[in-house]
Amino acid sequence: MKLKNLQGKSIIVVGGAGYIGSHVCKKISSKGGLPIVFDNFSAGHKHAIKWGPYEKVDLRNNKETSKAFEKYKSVETVIHLASSIEVNTGEKFPSEFYTNNVLGTLNLLNAMKNTNARKIIFSSTCATYGEIEDVPILETVIQNPLSVYGKTKLAMEHMIESFHKAYDLNYIILRYFNAAGADPEGDIGEEHDPETHLIPNALNAAASGKSMKIFGTDYDTIDGTCIRDYIHVNDIAQAHIDSIQAQKNGLKSADVNIGTGEGYSIFQILSMIEKVTGYKVKYKICQKRAGDLAKIYADTSKAENVLGFKTKYSNLENIIQTAWNFYKNKK
Ligand code: UDP
Repeated sequence: MKLKNLQGKSIIVVGGAGYIGSHVCKKISSKGGLPIVFDNFSAGHKHAIKWGPYEKVDLRNNKETSKAFEKYKSVETVIHLASSIEVNTGEKFPSEFYTNNVLGTLNLLNAMKNTNARKIIFSSTCATYGEIEDVPILETVIQNPLSVYGKTKLAMEHMIESFHKAYDLNYIILRYFNAAGADPEGDIGEEHDPETHLIPNALNAAASGKSMKIFGTDYDTIDGTCIRDYIHVNDIAQAHIDSIQAQKNGLKSADVNIGTGEGYSIFQILSMIEKVTGYKVKYKICQKRAGDLAKIYADTSKAENVLGFKTKYSNLENIIQTAWNFYKNKK
C-alpha cells in the first residue's frame, strides 16, 4: 500500500472547528495525518470536528493554552487559524479584537516555545495589505492595513517573524484572499453567526426571495461594486498540506498569497448565483461598509514557486455550486 504523505503525523490545528479549519482537518486526515483541534467554540462548531481529538482551549487564557500544548508536547507542527474576523465588529470593538487575535497569538507562541512545536503555518489575510493601486498584489508591497482586523493580523505576522528570529520558530504565513465554497461532500461549509460574507448572504437572498444589501456601487471598478479574489476553501486547505511539505523540505520562513489571481465584482457573483440556483437575487444598494477596499486580487506566482501550490477547485461556478449544495443540506 502506498503511504500517504502525512501518514502517522499529528498536527495541532488551532481554530480547527471553524469554516476553514474544518476543511484543513479533513484534508490532513485524507492524507493520513491526525488533526488535533484546539478551539474555544466562539465561532467554530463541535459538529465540524470529525477527524481527530479536540481540546477546548481559549488562547486568551495563558494557563489553559500552555496546558493544552504541554499535553501534546511532541507535536512539531501547528496550524493557527483562530481569530476574530468580522471587519465591522473590529471597528466597533477593537479591544476585543486585539485581545483575541494579538494577545491570543502571543500566548500561543509562548506555549509553543516550551514544547517541540517548532513549525507554524499561520492564516493571515489580504486585508493586511490595505488599498494597493497595483493589482494583482505581490507579497513585497508595503502592508498598510485599513481595518482593525487587518491591523491585528499584521501584528500577529510581526510577532511570528520576531519569534522566528529569536527562538528558531519556522513559519509560513498564508495570506488568504476570499475563502468561499464548501467541501463537495456537503458535510462542512460556511456557517458564521451572524453571517456577513457575500456569497452565503446572496445564496440566502436567492433561496428566501428576501433582499440582500450591496455595500456601495460607486467604487472605481468595472460596474462600481467591489472586486475580490474568491478561492475555494478546499484549495486553501491544500495550501496547508503544501506548506507542511515545504517545511519538511527545509523552508524556514515565507509569506505567501493564497488566491486565484482573478477578481470578480459583486454583480458578477450575483449573476453566477442566479445561474447556479435558478433564483433571482434581490438586493438593496446601501452605504459603503467601513474598511472595504475597492479592488483586490492576488499575484499567485510566489505560492506556485515556493509551495508548488496551484488551485484546483476555484472556478467560480464550482465555488457557488458547492456553497449552494451546503446551503441546501443545512436547511
Ligand atoms: N458585501 C455586500 N453584501 C453583503 C456582504 C458583503 O455587498 O451582504 C460586499 C462587501 O462590502 C465586499 C464584498 O461583498 O465588498 C466581499 O465581502 P465579504 O464580507 O464576503 O469579504 P471581505 O472581502 O470583506 O473579506
